[in-house]
Order: sequence, then structure tokens, then C-alpha cells
Amino acid sequence: MEPNQNNWLRTNWVEKGDAQRIFVELKFTLRDCNSLPGVVGTCKETFNLYYQETDSEVGRNLRENQYVKIDTIAADESFTQGDLGERKMKLNTEVRIIGPLSRRGFYLAFQDVGACIALVSVKVYYKKCWSIIENLATFPDTVTGSEFSSLVEVQGMCVSDAEEEADNSPKMHCSAEGEWLVPIGKCICKAGFHQKGDACEPCGRGFYKSSSQDLQCSRCPVHSFNDREGSWRCDCEDGYYRALSDPPSVACTRPPSAPQNLVYNINQTTVSLEWSPPADTGGRNDVSYRVICRRCSWEPEECVPCGQNVGYSPAQSGLVDTYVSIMDLLAHANYTFEVEAVNGVSDLSRTQRLFAAVSIATGQAAPSQVSEVIKEKVQQRSIQLSWQEPQQPNGVITEYEIKYYEKDQKDKIYSTVRSKSTSATVNNLKPSTAYVFQIRAFTQAGYGTFGPRLEITTKEEATAAIVSSEQNPVIIIAVVAVAGTIILVFMVFGFIIGRRHCGYSKADQEGDEELYFHPGTKTYIDPETYEDPSRAVHQFAKELDASCIKIERVIGAGEFGEVCSGRLKLPGKRDMSVAIKTLKVGYTEKQRREFLCEASIMGQFDHPNVVHLEGVVTRGKPVMIVIEYMENGSLDAFLRKHDGQFTVIQLVGMLRGIAAGMRYLADMGYVHRDLAARNVLVNSNLVCKVSDFGLSRVIDDDPEAVYTTSGGKIPVRWTAPEAIQYRKFTSASDVWSYGIVMWEVMSYGERPYWDMSNQDVIKAIEEGYRLPAPMDCPAGLHQLMLDCWQKDRAERPKFDQIVGILDKMIRNPNTLKTPVGTCTRPISPLLDQSTPDFTAFRSVGEWLEAIKMERYRDNFTAAGYSSLESVARMSIEDVMSLGITLVGHQKKIMSSIQTMRAQMLHLHGTGVQV
Ligand code: AMP
Repeated sequence: MEPNQNNWLRTNWVEKGDAQRIFVELKFTLRDCNSLPGVVGTCKETFNLYYQETDSEVGRNLRENQYVKIDTIAADESFTQGDLGERKMKLNTEVRIIGPLSRRGFYLAFQDVGACIALVSVKVYYKKCWSIIENLATFPDTVTGSEFSSLVEVQGMCVSDAEEEADNSPKMHCSAEGEWLVPIGKCICKAGFHQKGDACEPCGRGFYKSSSQDLQCSRCPVHSFNDREGSWRCDCEDGYYRALSDPPSVACTRPPSAPQNLVYNINQTTVSLEWSPPADTGGRNDVSYRVICRRCSWEPEECVPCGQNVGYSPAQSGLVDTYVSIMDLLAHANYTFEVEAVNGVSDLSRTQRLFAAVSIATGQAAPSQVSEVIKEKVQQRSIQLSWQEPQQPNGVITEYEIKYYEKDQKDKIYSTVRSKSTSATVNNLKPSTAYVFQIRAFTQAGYGTFGPRLEITTKEEATAAIVSSEQNPVIIIAVVAVAGTIILVFMVFGFIIGRRHCGYSKADQEGDEELYFHPGTKTYIDPETYEDPSRAVHQFAKELDASCIKIERVIGAGEFGEVCSGRLKLPGKRDMSVAIKTLKVGYTEKQRREFLCEASIMGQFDHPNVVHLEGVVTRGKPVMIVIEYMENGSLDAFLRKHDGQFTVIQLVGMLRGIAAGMRYLADMGYVHRDLAARNVLVNSNLVCKVSDFGLSRVIDDDPEAVYTTSGGKIPVRWTAPEAIQYRKFTSASDVWSYGIVMWEVMSYGERPYWDMSNQDVIKAIEEGYRLPAPMDCPAGLHQLMLDCWQKDRAERPKFDQIVGILDKMIRNPNTLKTPVGTCTRPISPLLDQSTPDFTAFRSVGEWLEAIKMERYRDNFTAAGYSSLESVARMSIEDVMSLGITLVGHQKKIMSSIQTMRAQMLHLHGTGVQV
């Protein structure tokens, strides 16, 4: 009953431990002031909660100004005298969050300034993510971060016998709610181990796993075994081998058996061999053959290798085909040939070689070449030569033939001389003349081939006076090669079919966009296809007279200048609120063009969910773009400001509007590329409209856009993977962005993927991670988001379908009642859990009954609220002015009114001024 009360209650000092952000849960009862006689003006229905951070206990003295206020706490349920009698005291539970904390501990304090309360319990706690094993990595207990939106990134430790996948170390994020989110990367079981549940177990006996990349242990391949657990490979059985290049997964093999059916054919001193492949290839398909040649004396077992003088065709070893010819053998000699089949493990085997062999005696053969010739004596008219017997006479040489001719003689007429010995003199030569000699030997088997040419010039004649008149004419043949130069002339036909664009390629928007085209709709025209961009502006935008525009105040900053609000009064029309984008002074021609380009695009659109262009001022300064005024500014900031204050139906209504705007743009063949809540504007009726149109600067200007490896700046968190990877921007990639907008809206402007890095976002999406449902988000809406985030863009819904689905949800609010189980946000929105269909009520009374607030029926009637339409316009102040003092009841009624407003807006198309 006393005025100005100030009663304090303080807790003991609470050490905070690891916590950075703590929760305080209060349970209390509170007496309704109305039920206490004689306390008007002094009785309160709230109390205040404070805290003070300190590094140690500070004793008992309490200085109020050292305490930071956390909140004023009101009761949802108070009790009255009657309740007390019936022992129906209603316990209130309120939770408040304090953080980030920086000292070692804190005190909580409660200030009661005149309420009749009983504080029943105070629970102080913090949240942590409990240790778990995910993707074979252990993540330790982790205390949540200090901010609501901060994720704590935690590095995982591989479980035993596991290792990190290359360039993909395991990470998870601990959310403020103590939930693990976004697993990235993983551990994999080492070679010799396989995954069983959350652990790596050794491969059993007779099994192996050669690499950590393999998923399962495999049975030992044929002809291999192991008798220990945890093997990365199996050993070969005796007599079986593995070539160095053989992977552990192939069977062990052995050398092949001998080639079969070896046959031969002798032609003088050449032997041809042919055979069939071995019966057993040893289990391999790399069989080749090699030949070993030995010359044997007539005595058995005395054989020597054939040496270098013997030729093999195609080769002596590495033979793929089953034949070979051996040439230049000696005549009348004995040879043995061994043909061996070899494979990749022949050289590893220590077992006996297996081969096929033949013994052959060569036939008669002509002698080999006479190659070593010496000039013994050179005279004016004669030359004496001597030579060595050929290396392989192949019989008894009975004669040598010496062939010679004058080197410079045109016809090269030969002369021959024969000799029985290894020397001869050639007479009747001309002095000072060059001759060419070649010699061959003769046996019973015939002539051998001639040896190499030997050039010798006879001596000069002694009489100096004689000068030959028969000097050989020197014929110089000049060969003139006429080089023809062929010039290939490439005719380049340039088709200028691709148009120049407002900073991005319109061509990208075609092709599979036909999917999205609806015949009969207007098609978007890229303003840059106009040679004179200012013509485009006037084609699509109305030129306004600057005198019709009144600038009132600056409301934002655009890329090219200030954005102002003001009024537009056109002759014969009512004046209206407008936003005015101005082009700052000192602009370049390029800037002017880009600035007006947005108007040229916006001017082509006419849809209630696309921001409407009123006109442009290009013939005065400053140059201006005049747009309809959107009182509530951009959607992301608007939602953050009104966190938790809308019903699900209202949020879905906003999403429906955005989808309808996007359906219209897609039908026109326009791809937005930067759809995000920050680029959607909201008017006073909560109608959302798509804005920020298609210039390169939209992306350049967007602080969210970053450079990616595919080139160009991209707002990564909002962009479909194919657009990030190879710049495939289509209406389907706009649908992906729309899914992100849905998530932004349902989480009241939370940042998609929180504070994860862009790189991590790209990686997580690639690995299949998708954003979880925001708190209280109906399952159907989250499913629609997931559909928009299908990897295959053909699988994503079209905007037309999205609009249809959202319409259905609005018509059947029951479908929006089941929120997805997970709760990621601590703030409780003013949600009416049982949303009735307001269009079904005929009177204010019926409505109050449905929400169990019929006790206020008279208050509404007395204040003149007789129709549901008038109720739908009520503000919180209006509700309070009816004398409804209980905060819980105020909330319940307001929440219901908001839902009613949304349903009216979407079912009758009637906006209600908020
Ligand atoms: P913009 O250059 O289009 O991104 O505009 C900059 C800022 O001006 C926006 O973030 C809005 O807050 C504001 N703005 C732009 N257009 C409008 C409009 N039509 N109505 C109200 N505010 C606007």
C-alpha cells in the first residue's frame, strides 16, 4: 500500500564456469492488483530483473547503479482473491537470457517496486552441445557461443583407426541452442579397417582393405591369403606372385607355361619360327614371348649364344605375336632356338623356366660382304687393291669379283676384274680420274653381296704441258624450287545476334527458360539492346515534370545517390507518397546510363508484388527515378525489427506475395539473380514487393556478393550451386534464392547459414547439407524450402506451383499447425497455437468466444467495436484502452487480431492499415 517501494533481493555469487551466455528461468506467482482493495497507484504487476558481473564475491553491500537491468517481468497469469481461496495460484514461468558474459561470475537481483509476488524458483543454466561422434569424428562437449546467432566451429578428432579424408577435415558447428549443426568433412577408416557404427574395426582374417578410400573390407583375391586381422593386403600362395604394378585387389598369378606347337622353316641362313600360345597364361593377360638363339657345335651340349650378328624380326623379346624370323645365321651350322612365354611375374619366379625348343641346321648360303678393302698402290693408270676374306664365307671361296667405274661418268658403265686371291691390280685407268670400286666373293652357293664403295683417284700424268681438253663439264643443275604460298583467307562472318546487356547476359536467361514461359505474356526486353539507352528509358518510363515532385527527407543510400521519400502530385490525380532515387552530381555518362537502366527494367513490370515505377526525371537535375513508396522498407530489416510478432499466416502471406511477384517476372522471361529479403520491400499493408532490378550493379552493389572462382560477384548464400559454379542463372536458380528468402522470413531475418564462411557454405551445400527448419516453422513450409533447394534444378518447383501451394496453406490454416520438431530460436513469438478460420465468424462475440476471451465482450461493445473489420484494425493501444490490463490477455487478443488481418488480406484482397 505504500507508494515508491524499492525492495531488493539478491542471489549468492554464481560462478559462470565456461558459460558465455546464461539462461535464467523464473517461476513465480503474482497477485492481480484489481483484487486488492485500496492499492490503486501503488500496486504493481511487474518486477525487475538485474545482474552484476564480478570476478569474485563482493560482500553484502548492494549498490543499485552497479546492476544492469535485464528486463521488467510481467505475469501471464495473475491470481485474485477468489483464486487464493480455491488454492488456484497460477505459476508463471519466464526465461531471460544474459550474455555475452566476460567476468568470472555474477549476481542476479530482483527489484520489487510494489507487486505482490512470490518468487518460487530461479534456475540458472547454460547450454552446451553434448559430445558426439559424427562421420567417425569425435566432437567434445562444447559450450555455446556468446551471441544468439553465433555458431561455435569445432574441429572433430578422428576415432581410433580412422584418418581425415584428404582436404576434408571434419568440422561441426555448435548452435546457440546447444544443437550440433552443419557437419562438414569426415574421417574414414584407415587401410585394414572398416566402419561399423561409429567405430573402425579391423578386417577379419582372409579379408583386406588396401586404402582408406575403400568402404568395405574385401575377401582376399584368388591365390592369396592372410591369417591376421586388420590387413591392408593379402599374401600370395607359394608359386604365385604379384607384379609391382598389380593393385592388391587382383589375384596373385604365376608365370605362363611353355608355348605350344613350335614349328620352323629354314630358308638358307634365315629361320622362321611359329608357335601357339601357352596352355596356361598364369592368370594374366600380359603374356609376351622371347627367343633365345644358340649356335651349337656338332658335338652335343656345346652351344654358345648367337651374339650380335644375328638379326630378329620383329624383335628378339617382347613379342606379342606368335612368330619371329632369325636372319644372318651361318650356313651349314647347327642352332637351337628356345621360345619362352613370359608375363608380368616371370622375373619374380624362381621356378624353372618353361620353354619350347627346336634344333636346326642351316642350309648353304652365299658368302657375306667383303668389307675391309685396302688400296695398296695407286699409279697414273693402275690401282692395286687387297682385302680380307668375308666374315662368313659360308663355304669355299673360289673367286672375287672387283667392279669399278669412273665416278663422274654420266652413264656409270661398270668394268669388272676377277681374282682368285685376296688382291688384284686394275689396269688401263685414266690418270687424274676418280674411280669407285666394290668387291664380292663367290662360292658354290653363288655370289655374296658387294661390299661398300671405295673411291680412289689415279695419279696425275707426269707431262705438265698436256692439258686435257676433255675436262668433264661441270654441270650445275640449279633446281629452282618455287615455293607457293597458299594464303588461306578466312572469311569471318560476324552475326551480331547476341545483344549487349545491362551488365549481364540476357542470353543466359534463354534456352531452358522456355519451361517458364507462358504464351501470351509480355516478354521482358533488355534495355541494352537499344542502341540509344535513353530511348529505352522513354519507351518504358514516363517522363515526369520535376515540379510535380516534392522531396521530403532522405531515407537511404543507393549506389548512385541518395534515396529520399517525398510526394508526387500529377495533374488531375491525388498526390501520393513516393520514393525518389537521385543521381548524384558529377556523374559520368556511363553512371547515368546504368542508373536509368533500372528504370527501363522496372518500367516494363506491372504487378502488385513488383515495385512499381511512377516515372523518371531525365530532363532536369538531379536525374531522378520515382517509385511507389514502401513504408516499411526492406523486408530483412523489417522482420528483424518485429522479431516474433507475426502469426505464421501473416508470414506465409508475405511469402505468397513474393512468389507471385517472381512468377510474374519469370513469366516475362526475366531472371532476377539477386532475390533476397534485403531486396524485397514492404509497404504499410505488409504487402511485399520484389525490387532491385537486373543491372550488374545490383550484384556489384550488394554487400553480400563476393567473387567466386567462376568469375563475377555472387551473393553465395542465396545462390543456387549451378549459378555459383558455372554461372547458370535461370528462373530455377531464382527459385533456389526464393527458398532462402522463405527461410529468412520464417526465422525473422536470421542470416542464412549464420556466421559460417562462404567457402564452408558452398562445401556444405555440395555435401548435401540444407538449412534446418526455423523455430516454429510448419513442416510443410520447410518441405517447400527443401524442394526449392533440390540440386537438380529441373526438380525444383516453378513459381507458379509455389504460389499454388502457399495459397492452399492460407486457405487451410490447419496445415500450418505442425511445426518441425527442432527449435533453433529461443524467442517465443506471439503465436496463437489454435488458429481459427476468422472468415467463419459472423460477430465479434463469436470470435471472442472462440479465443476464450468472451469475458471482454462488453468492453468491445461499449467501445463501439461491432464488426470484425473494425476489430481487425485495432492496435495494442486500442486493446489496452478497453481496460484489458492482463498482459497475457492483451497478447492473446493482439495475436488473434493479427491472424485475422492476414486472413482478410489474402482471402478478400483487402489490406488493413497497420
Ligand atoms: P536501393 O538502392 O534500391 O538498394 O535502395 C537503398 C535503400 O533505400 C533500400 O534499402 C531501402 O531502405 C530504401 N528504398 C529503396 N526504394 C524504396 C522504396 N520504394 N520505398 C521505400 N524505401 C526504399
